[in-house]
Amino acid sequence: MTRLVLATQNEHKVHELRQILADLAEEVGLEVVGASDFPDAPDVVESEVTFEGNARLKAVAVAKATGLPSVADDSGLAVDVLGGSPGVFSARWSGTHAGVDAPRAQRDRANLELLLEQIGDVPDEHRSAAFVCAAVLAMPDGSVESVEGRVTGTIRREPVGDNGFGYDPIFVPDGDTRSLAQYTDVEKNAISHRGLAFRAMVPILREHLTR
Ligand code: IMP
Repeated sequence: MTRLVLATQNEHKVHELRQILADLAEEVGLEVVGASDFPDAPDVVESEVTFEGNARLKAVAVAKATGLPSVADDSGLAVDVLGGSPGVFSARWSGTHAGVDAPRAQRDRANLELLLEQIGDVPDEHRSAAFVCAAVLAMPDGSVESVEGRVTGTIRREPVGDNGFGYDPIFVPDGDTRSLAQYTDVEKNAISHRGLAFRAMVPILREHLTR
């Protein structure tokens, strides 16, 4: 049985990747585990300014520390009129405004409110944005592969919906009128940046794990 480490402490992401890789896992004998199974694995500072760069830092560090193949992801919201911001700073866009130790939901809300304020004067036709996710596979032999998933949409003027997290309540995917926070988990995974990136990883993993 080969183990694949998802370089995150976020159990929700581990669950999502496990579901997406279920068929491959059976086919090649693969077990997906989270970084929390390796307490000595380094806690990597996301010091790069691209999603791919940060995902690469995390995947390479965990593959090196564990000697196992590792997948990491990094994601965020890129608003066109803001030149792609908040981008890699999505989780920290309002700085310490909500308090450094504030619960995630509070930090998410402060980030979302600041963004809405910043683009308050931007007319509807210029409120386009995308959720972007880079996923990187790092092998213990040093080889690295990256993929990207992207879902385009527009930014609403007020939040709506109770599902999801982060900027979901203000993001309306193209072709819909609902915000992502009005999608079920299954609906969101089918179109989301992370779902797309993780699914794009499947053939790459198959190739590397069956060599
Ligand atoms: P991370 O890749 O989990 O570190 O996500 C970084 C930040 O991007 C999150 O804290 C959110 O603010 C934002 N983000 C990433 N993916 C999503 C999503 O699916 N919905 C809403 N916000 C997201």
